[in-house]
Amino acid sequence: MRKLWLKSLLVLAALTLVLGQMTAWAGKIEKIKARGKLIAGVKDAVVPFGFVDEKTNQLVGFDIDICRYIAKKLGVKLELKPVTSATRIPMLAQGSVDIVAATMTHKFSREDSIDFSITYFMDGQKLLVKKGSGIKSAADLAGKKVGTAKGSTSEKNIKAAQPKCRVLSFEGYPQAFLALQQGKVAAVTTDSTILLGLKNSSPNPNDYEIVGDYISSEPYGLGVPENDSDFRDFVNRCLADMWNSGEYQKIYNKWFGPNTKFYLPLNWKMEIWPY
Ligand code: GLU
Repeated sequence: MRKLWLKSLLVLAALTLVLGQMTAWAGKIEKIKARGKLIAGVKDAVVPFGFVDEKTNQLVGFDIDICRYIAKKLGVKLELKPVTSATRIPMLAQGSVDIVAATMTHKFSREDSIDFSITYFMDGQKLLVKKGSGIKSAADLAGKKVGTAKGSTSEKNIKAAQPKCRVLSFEGYPQAFLALQQGKVAAVTTDSTILLGLKNSSPNPNDYEIVGDYISSEPYGLGVPENDSDFRDFVNRCLADMWNSGEYQKIYNKWFGPNTKFYLPLNWKMEIWPY
């Protein structure tokens, strides 16, 4: 009798071990489906990518609509967690979000702890200044203060484009824009569409202008967990399906189309691999 007990205990222990291992091995897709929701890291103060809709108090934006599509394809709900430029990669690497859709440029140097989807948005860096400031390009920023966000590519690019300017890194872009309004910085620099969002969602957009040529190229990728190619393939497939079905263009036009305050002609094509 005691032997039988011991045997059953051993079998139970072995089973627990195997099951434990199986959950540990389960990829992101299985984990998301079991949980019943996709947890996405998004910006909460970057118009029109991820921001709070004043009327509904809900997070909305282009990046959020992209996540909504992916959650729908997975057959799960969507939970949104605000991230900043500095926190998005650590949060994804630690597993507190499943995916990052947060105006994030895909750079080789950002691939150490996370992976990226194919490019789903294209932009480049420019300057936002007060109208009549006389600043026309990065060359005019020597000896001047420039605001941007901590942890962004913009920080590094502006230092390379104008080593003689002083970069002030804020938590986010609204704080950098406030510094411009208060005369604490001579310019705000980041991706041109984010600058357009700051300018055209302010009460007095005509007081500001976006100047200069692009000082960088900023291809956005969705951040996905490192070494989970099933999930990355799934996300890439979603993006390709969106593009091919016209859903991408619909979402794009909702936020950046000619009838919006943030018009940006869609002048690039998603890299679509044959099915
Ligand atoms: N796309 C740039 C980056 O990933 C600037 C925008 C941002 O800070 O999110 O750093």
